[in-house]
Amino acid sequence: MRRWNGWGDTSVTYPLPESAVSYLQEKVPPGDRSPDADIEHVLRTIPPSQLRDHPLIEKDPLSRLLHARGQSLPDWIALRSGVIEAFPDGVAVPERPDHVPELLAFAESSLASIIPYGGGTSVVGHINPLPGGPPALTIDMRRFNRLLSFDEESRLATFGAGATGPTIEEQLGRLGYRLGHFPQSWEYSTLGGWIATRSSGQQSYGYGRIEDLFAGGQVETPRGQFELPPLPASAAGPDLRQVVLGSEGRLGVITRAVLRVRPLPVQEFFWGVFFHAWEDGRHAARALVQSRVPLSMVRLSDAQETETTLALAGRERLLKLAHDALSLLGYGEGRCLMILGISAEGGVDATKIRQQALDVIRSCGGLNAGTLIGKEWAHSRFKSPYLRNTLWQMGYALDTLESAVSWNAFEQARVNALAGIRNVLEVEGVGGLAFSHLSHLYADGAGFYITYIFPRSEDPHETLSTWRAAKRSASNAILDGGGTISHQHGVGLDHRDDLPGEKGPLGVQLIRAFAQAVDPAGILNPGKLIAADPSDTQI
Ligand SMILES: Cc1cc2nc3c(=O)[nH]c(=O)nc-3n(C[C@H](O)[C@H](O)[C@H](O)COP(=O)(O)OP(=O)(O)OC[C@H]3O[C@@H](n4cnc5c(N)ncnc54)[C@H](O)[C@@H]3O)c2cc1C
Repeated sequence: MRRWNGWGDTSVTYPLPESAVSYLQEKVPPGDRSPDADIEHVLRTIPPSQLRDHPLIEKDPLSRLLHARGQSLPDWIALRSGVIEAFPDGVAVPERPDHVPELLAFAESSLASIIPYGGGTSVVGHINPLPGGPPALTIDMRRFNRLLSFDEESRLATFGAGATGPTIEEQLGRLGYRLGHFPQSWEYSTLGGWIATRSSGQQSYGYGRIEDLFAGGQVETPRGQFELPPLPASAAGPDLRQVVLGSEGRLGVITRAVLRVRPLPVQEFFWGVFFHAWEDGRHAARALVQSRVPLSMVRLSDAQETETTLALAGRERLLKLAHDALSLLGYGEGRCLMILGISAEGGVDATKIRQQALDVIRSCGGLNAGTLIGKEWAHSRFKSPYLRNTLWQMGYALDTLESAVSWNAFEQARVNALAGIRNVLEVEGVGGLAFSHLSHLYADGAGFYITYIFPRSEDPHETLSTWRAAKRSASNAILDGGGTISHQHGVGLDHRDDLPGEKGPLGVQLIRAFAQAVDPAGILNPGKLIAADPSDTQI
């Protein structure tokens, strides 16, 4: 069973070893540990539904609670404190393609809004009903989860848009293929959600982002259905796939998608490398991507993230030995860990790729640390989100944010975003820990990802206000530094008011015009991506 107010399955926990607890408590003073709101109590606070009855729509309080919020820190604060401002008025879990237009027509005639819902793993407020808004109907796409057709010759697989990562890989795996899209939320996030948020998986270096994998599909809108034919390439005007990608539920419900798939790798492994300092690792990352070494993943942790990751893994004695050995070799305090991956299909020489990568790495002062550390990373890659549950119970709030910047501006944007968060936590007197990694490499730049942990306050509003200040400060640094407001999480509510700065007023008008063409009544996920009303820019 999935947790209603945290991450993942209730049977999975992430206990921290004692040494890890001490490490953390030394770095960040533990915060408030008040117990979470009781679900029975929260269910009793849900107001009556404002929606008319419909045979496809559930209006029971539990369904409405389970679809009320996503996974952002504000979502966690709301769910854990039980102070949830708005709930969907109903939840539909359609089974057949014709159910979707039926629900859209029902919503339009009921003056209700529609929130397309995949796995509910949004971290920027995408699926939250708006307080004071029209009645909200959430359409949960989970039953659209099957492989519908497979064209092996073209390597194109068509899936229902509600399929999660494991479902997709399991069905393709049986045919000897894989998609290779592995966001950290892979266990629960869905194809429709990935497309609608322009998601990026951990192995995007090798497999590409979702926009590289999304070849076509079908979208249901209040004005009818539109097809995106899966063409290998086309010069027939603007590419409408690019309009659907990142549409965040504003342009319709994606019902199915055609995906570019690849044969399963015959060999896949991850390994670790240490650099003396961040700069060496960053140069190596750029050199690797610019010289097109065909890896499937490169991820470089800064010194603080390296230290924290190792400390939280426990295994004190092993780590002490590794620490001593690395220090002797000159990889001391500022050392940074890079994890690299190779996913070699048949006929590809993995040893040669590894050698190519190591040549670049050694030229930047890197030290090969072998595959043990890579195996550990691969083993816990989808388990680490569970750590957030443990940290919350220990009295800590955790948030992440990310951007992508061209190489020439990368460092300044990353450093300033980190400094912005640290300053806020210091000025507010709460203390905290902030660290980053570089991932998702491109020839012209890369993504950076920041994690920050701070003690939570007894008053949830205070925790929220600290988050808001830290987020604002980091976002300003990112935008001033020439970065995008989001490389992979999307816009939702939390980045909405920063979008005009990135797209310009005409760009936002274009997005609005697209939405109005398919949804003149404005029922589709109002207020997300762009403000529902052009004059409303406040969250
Ligand atoms: C622990 C954790 C780790 C994460 N790691 C990553 C990561 O590595 N990379 C990454 O890119 N993101 C990551 N995310 C963010 C999140 O998982 C992605 O944004 C993901 O793409 C959301 O998919 P979902 O199915 O959960 O969509 P939801 O959260 O349900 O919805 C997100 C948006 O997509 C729209 N939508 C969903 N399905 C459809 C559909 N069928 N038709 C039209 N619109 C639809 C919704 O209306 C909403 O606007 C992470 C989140 C968490 C909590």
